[in-house]
Amino acid sequence: MPTQSMEQLVSLCKRRGFIFQTNEIYGGLQGVYDYGPLGVELKENLKKAWWTAMVYSRDDVEGLDASILTNKKVLKYSGHEDTFTDPLVDCKDCKNRMRADHIKDSKCLHCGSTNLTEPRPFNLMFRTNIGPVSDDDSYAYLRPETAQQIFTNFKNVVDSTSKSIPFGIAQIGKAFRNEITPRNFIFRVREFEQMELEFFVKKGEDEDWHKYWIKERINWWVQQGVEKDKIKVLNVPQEELSHYSKATIDLMYEFPHGVEELEGIANRTDFDLGSHSKNQEDLDITADVLKNKDSNARLAVQNIDSKKWEVPYVIEPSAGVDRGVLAILNESYKEETLENGKNRVVLALKPHLSPIKAAVIPIKKNDSTIVDFSKKIKDNLQKLGLGRVVLENTGNIGKSYRKHDEIGTPICITIDFETLEDSTVTVRDRDSMEQKRVKVETLDNLMRNLLVK
Ligand code: ATP
Repeated sequence: MPTQSMEQLVSLCKRRGFIFQTNEIYGGLQGVYDYGPLGVELKENLKKAWWTAMVYSRDDVEGLDASILTNKKVLKYSGHEDTFTDPLVDCKDCKNRMRADHIKDSKCLHCGSTNLTEPRPFNLMFRTNIGPVSDDDSYAYLRPETAQQIFTNFKNVVDSTSKSIPFGIAQIGKAFRNEITPRNFIFRVREFEQMELEFFVKKGEDEDWHKYWIKERINWWVQQGVEKDKIKVLNVPQEELSHYSKATIDLMYEFPHGVEELEGIANRTDFDLGSHSKNQEDLDITADVLKNKDSNARLAVQNIDSKKWEVPYVIEPSAGVDRGVLAILNESYKEETLENGKNRVVLALKPHLSPIKAAVIPIKKNDSTIVDFSKKIKDNLQKLGLGRVVLENTGNIGKSYRKHDEIGTPICITIDFETLEDSTVTVRDRDSMEQKRVKVETLDNLMRNLLVK
């Protein structure tokens, strides 16, 4: 399938209500986007697919929905206060600021001047004040990743669920990074969502689990409709690894603007639990952690044989929801020339991801008998709980088909005068455009077959 241009995707997203620039009526806010009526459904469906695979279909993973506002001590001990930075350079002539690693030939990217400052670290975390007093001490952070809240809840989850390793904690939620150069639509933004699993394992078994999760995650993306050949596995070089990582694999995807990271799968060792634990000196922590004087919890598990307390290693598959949505849109967008010479845009989404599962279309918009019958069919299908079903009462069948092709609705169900006589409807398939006449009472099963795999 050919890669689309970003413009085609941005245009579809705006035209059909998937994604809008935030606060557009006031000129927007750079690096922040809103998901419209169809975007919210697509995004929810992607998250649901992740949650189903990572939590419901396993017995060794529990879910979590922790807070966004984060105690600054968490991000001190996690290393983010010191290391979550990009080196920045200022142009003394045009006053623009840019990432040092983006500069070529020591020249300003905006005006070409060589009158630049030395690179200075710039922390990517958003700080905000907590409570009525606005002093230097009463601040918190908006979390830059969902992971840290999982580590700080480790003991709560273990104590309340009696889980023993290997087991994982999964979370989906917002993260915030003050990216210097947000760009490429929803690829690099300042407010985004992550789907993260922290999978706790025994030291020594970490490398095998790392391999296991790389395979699982690639398979999952393929199940969402991403072509396997478009995912490249990048072994992040040692010198580029994050401070916590022993090894990281990035799943690189062919986005419209280039090949970039869709998901990272890291072996974070015992760095995180070790960093946030009390009594570190009794725990044989292998990672280089800051001495923790503040934590009141021992984040370790007891070895049944030796009775020793051990800090588990952690494998982290961390995927961006927004980058996932962009990849899925890119994979499913097609422009086709039909036999009659006309063009159509079709979003060939996997049905479980489609924002609308079925459109019910009365052939005549002012005929109350047909419209009432259509509403009944819509209500019945909606009650199956398989996702959104809409009544498309525009009276223009051709236009309705075009719209639903473009937004990825797998089937359209048309109700006409024959329906009133023999209880049959026309079902049109998005991909083949084939139409067939079926009995109304078979629609439930048709929907289930489409969506329950
Ligand atoms: P990059 O190198 O592209 O900045 P990263 O290595 O900093 O990404 P991680 O910290 O590994 O990213 O975050 C895990 C996932 O979160 C990424 O694979 C990506 O899908 C998503 N993500 C990270 N930063 C952003 C962002 N600014 N906008 C959208 N998604 C992001």
